[in-house]
Amino acid sequence: MVKEIVDGLENGAGLSKDALAALLLCGDMEEIAYLKAHARQAADRVFGKDIYIRGLIEFTNYCKNDCYYCGIRCGNEKAQRYRLTRKQILECCRQGYALGFRTFVLQGGEDAYFTEKRVCAIVYDIKSKFADCAVTLSIGEKSRRTYQAYFDAGADRYLLRHETANSAHYAKLHPSQMRLENRKRCLYDLKEIGYQAGAGFMVGSPFQTVDTIYEDLRFLGELGPHMVGIGPFIPHRDTPFAYAQAGTLEMTLRLLSIIRLLHPRVLLPATTALGTIHPAGRELGVQAGANVVMPNLSPPQVRKQYQLYDNKRCMGDEAAEHKQELAKRMADIGYRLVVSRGDYGKE
Ligand code: SAH
Repeated sequence: MVKEIVDGLENGAGLSKDALAALLLCGDMEEIAYLKAHARQAADRVFGKDIYIRGLIEFTNYCKNDCYYCGIRCGNEKAQRYRLTRKQILECCRQGYALGFRTFVLQGGEDAYFTEKRVCAIVYDIKSKFADCAVTLSIGEKSRRTYQAYFDAGADRYLLRHETANSAHYAKLHPSQMRLENRKRCLYDLKEIGYQAGAGFMVGSPFQTVDTIYEDLRFLGELGPHMVGIGPFIPHRDTPFAYAQAGTLEMTLRLLSIIRLLHPRVLLPATTALGTIHPAGRELGVQAGANVVMPNLSPPQVRKQYQLYDNKRCMGDEAAEHKQELAKRMADIGYRLVVSRGDYGKE
């Protein structure tokens, strides 16, 4: 059963809802090994043994939104808030550049302090000082004009997970001011403007079902993103979902493989959340078809404060300064970290 579905995926036959359910619910690990191995082969055909690295700079944890799953939601009064200065952000880039990073991902909450003008100035600065680097923004929902302004200032890529493509499910994860339609509008705008755009979702988020995941995959098929970020949902103690179940390693790995087979060329990270729920999460992610890792390049003293979920890994080899250890872990499974921007379609 799994074998036929995987062979079908490889031949571009797509995936029915029943087939998705069969892959996600299959209890035979040998069959699932076939799924993962074929997804990895698909990644090898496009990227070889190269793994792209991105330096993640979490530059503010102020946020005007109140997403029920997220530790830096505005309703969490226990969160200790911080924001980095432009100088601190540039210093992160300088250190990252020396370590071999050629992509900087600026991620944060939706923080009104960082006006369009301020963000543009920061992007422009980074692009002038590090001309051979790509800048990725991940700062939430903005107007098309603002996305255009960031792009004109030099931003190359934008990450905005759609979180779930089912509007009833979306409404269970977000307050009513937040709308799936707007999230989707943002993603289409980003693509049209010319960004390499990334969508994605949490695996095992509360109220997620095979049906909602099927809708996620359908949406990814319609949007055609350049990147897809998925990682397990992990509860945060000071959110309404404090006692919800976490997503699992196994479900995340299977979905990485399925997404790789559906979109062979897509940039697919083995995320921090995956590395948090299992010590070898990122290696297993690569072996299931991921081709990107995003070590943490934020100043160490603020890393604990950017706590989207409990026990987020940010030290050890999750930290950019320990890139050598990460490189060794990847070498041990036959992969190499490369010094390159790692753009979509230019491997
Ligand atoms: N404000 C930006 C960045 C959000 S943080 C934006 O809206 O895009 C990046 C991602 O972390 C989110 O898109 C979400 O999918 C993920 N995340 C948030 N809380 C999480 C949790 N409790 N467990 C796992 N992932 C989480």
